[in-house]
Amino acid sequence: MKTILLVGFIIFTKIYAMDMPQSQDFICPISMEIMEDPISASCGHIFDRKSIEAWLNEQNTCPICRKIIDFLSSETILREKIRQYKLNEQKMALENTKRQAWEKVSQQLFEEFCSDLRDFVRKTQ
Ligand SMILES: [Zn+2]
Repeated sequence: MKTILLVGFIIFTKIYAMDMPQSQDFICPISMEIMEDPISASCGHIFDRKSIEAWLNEQNTCPICRKIIDFLSSETILREKIRQYKLNEQKMALENTKRQAWEKVSQQLFEEFCSDLRDFVRKTQ
Protein backbone atom coordinates (compact mmCIF):
# COMPACT_ATOMS: atom_id res chain seq x y z
CA MET A 1 0.00 0.00 0.00
CA LYS A 2 2.75 2.45 0.99
CA THR A 3 4.74 1.56 -2.14
CA ILE A 4 1.70 2.28 -4.33
CA LEU A 5 1.35 5.67 -2.66
CA LEU A 6 5.02 6.42 -3.25
CA VAL A 7 4.79 5.53 -6.95
CA GLY A 8 1.65 7.69 -7.22
CA PHE A 9 3.48 10.54 -5.58
CA ILE A 10 6.41 10.31 -8.04
CA ILE A 11 4.07 10.33 -11.08
CA PHE A 12 2.14 13.24 -9.60
CA THR A 13 5.30 15.34 -9.10
CA LYS A 14 6.50 14.59 -12.64
CA ILE A 15 3.20 15.80 -14.14
CA TYR A 16 3.41 19.05 -12.19
CA ALA A 17 6.99 19.69 -13.22
CA MET A 18 5.88 20.09 -16.86
CA ASP A 19 6.21 23.56 -18.36
CA MET A 20 3.21 25.88 -18.28
CA PRO A 21 2.23 28.04 -21.32
CA GLN A 22 3.85 31.46 -21.58
CA SER A 23 1.75 34.51 -20.74
CA GLN A 24 3.96 37.09 -22.56
CA ASP A 25 1.31 37.75 -25.22
CA PHE A 26 -1.20 38.64 -22.52
CA ILE A 27 0.85 41.53 -21.10
CA CYS A 28 -0.14 45.11 -21.94
CA PRO A 29 2.95 47.08 -23.15
CA ILE A 30 1.74 50.14 -21.24
CA SER A 31 0.70 48.75 -17.85
CA MET A 32 3.00 45.66 -18.05
CA GLU A 33 0.14 43.69 -16.50
CA ILE A 34 -2.06 40.90 -17.86
CA MET A 35 -4.76 42.54 -20.00
CA GLU A 36 -8.42 42.41 -19.02
CA ASP A 37 -9.90 43.81 -22.21
CA PRO A 38 -7.32 43.63 -25.02
CA ILE A 39 -7.89 45.89 -28.04
CA SER A 40 -5.81 46.43 -31.13
CA ALA A 41 -5.00 49.91 -32.39
CA SER A 42 -5.22 50.76 -36.11
CA CYS A 43 -1.42 50.22 -36.35
CA GLY A 44 -1.83 46.61 -35.18
CA HIS A 45 -0.38 46.93 -31.67
CA ILE A 46 -2.43 45.48 -28.84
CA PHE A 47 -3.05 47.14 -25.47
CA ASP A 48 -5.37 46.80 -22.52
CA ARG A 49 -8.38 49.05 -23.12
CA LYS A 50 -8.03 51.18 -19.99
CA SER A 51 -4.28 51.77 -20.63
CA ILE A 52 -4.62 52.86 -24.28
CA GLU A 53 -7.71 54.97 -23.56
CA ALA A 54 -5.80 56.84 -20.84
CA TRP A 55 -2.86 57.22 -23.26
CA LEU A 56 -5.11 58.52 -26.07
CA ASN A 57 -6.49 61.20 -23.75
CA GLU A 58 -3.02 62.75 -23.89
CA GLN A 59 -1.98 62.03 -27.49
CA ASN A 60 -3.22 60.37 -30.67
CA THR A 61 -0.18 58.25 -31.59
CA CYS A 62 0.76 54.64 -30.77
CA PRO A 63 3.17 54.45 -27.77
CA ILE A 64 5.18 51.77 -29.63
CA CYS A 65 5.36 52.75 -33.33
CA ARG A 66 4.26 56.42 -33.04
CA LYS A 67 1.74 56.04 -35.90
CA ILE A 68 -1.51 57.97 -35.57
CA ILE A 69 -4.26 55.77 -34.11
CA ASP A 70 -7.50 56.16 -36.10
CA PHE A 71 -9.51 53.39 -34.50
CA LEU A 72 -9.47 50.65 -31.86
CA SER A 73 -11.00 47.20 -32.22
CA SER A 74 -11.75 44.49 -29.66
CA GLU A 75 -9.57 41.37 -29.56
CA THR A 76 -12.29 38.93 -28.56
CA ILE A 77 -10.28 35.75 -29.20
CA LEU A 78 -7.35 37.04 -27.18
CA ARG A 79 -9.70 38.15 -24.41
CA GLU A 80 -11.12 34.61 -24.22
CA LYS A 81 -7.58 33.13 -24.17
CA ILE A 82 -6.67 35.41 -21.26
CA ARG A 83 -9.86 34.43 -19.42
CA GLN A 84 -8.97 30.75 -19.86
CA TYR A 85 -5.38 31.41 -18.77
CA LYS A 86 -6.56 33.15 -15.58
CA LEU A 87 -8.97 30.31 -14.79
CA ASN A 88 -6.15 27.84 -15.31
CA GLU A 89 -3.86 29.85 -13.01
CA GLN A 90 -6.51 29.70 -10.27
CA LYS A 91 -6.87 25.96 -10.82
CA MET A 92 -3.10 25.50 -10.65
CA ALA A 93 -2.88 27.47 -7.40
CA LEU A 94 -5.50 25.19 -5.88
CA GLU A 95 -3.74 22.06 -7.18
CA ASN A 96 -0.48 23.40 -5.78
CA THR A 97 -2.00 23.66 -2.32
CA LYS A 98 -3.32 20.11 -2.64
CA ARG A 99 0.08 18.89 -3.86
CA GLN A 100 1.88 20.48 -0.90
CA ALA A 101 -0.50 18.74 1.51
CA TRP A 102 0.05 15.48 -0.37
CA GLU A 103 3.84 15.88 -0.25
CA LYS A 104 3.65 16.28 3.52
CA VAL A 105 1.63 13.07 3.88
CA SER A 106 3.91 11.23 1.42
CA GLN A 107 7.00 12.26 3.37
CA GLN A 108 5.45 10.89 6.55
CA LEU A 109 4.50 7.65 4.79
CA PHE A 110 8.00 7.34 3.36
CA GLU A 111 9.59 7.76 6.78
CA GLU A 112 7.23 5.14 8.24
CA PHE A 113 8.03 2.83 5.34
CA CYS A 114 11.80 3.20 5.96
CA SER A 115 11.32 2.59 9.64
CA ASP A 116 9.22 -0.54 8.94
CA LEU A 117 11.86 -1.73 6.50
CA ARG A 118 14.61 -1.26 9.08
CA ASP A 119 12.56 -3.25 11.64
CA PHE A 120 11.97 -5.98 9.08
CA VAL A 121 15.69 -6.22 8.23
CA ARG A 122 16.59 -6.27 11.92
CA LYS A 123 14.12 -9.11 12.64
CA THR A 124 15.28 -11.26 9.73
CA GLN A 125 18.98 -10.99 10.60
ZN1 LIG B 1 1.65 50.84 -33.10
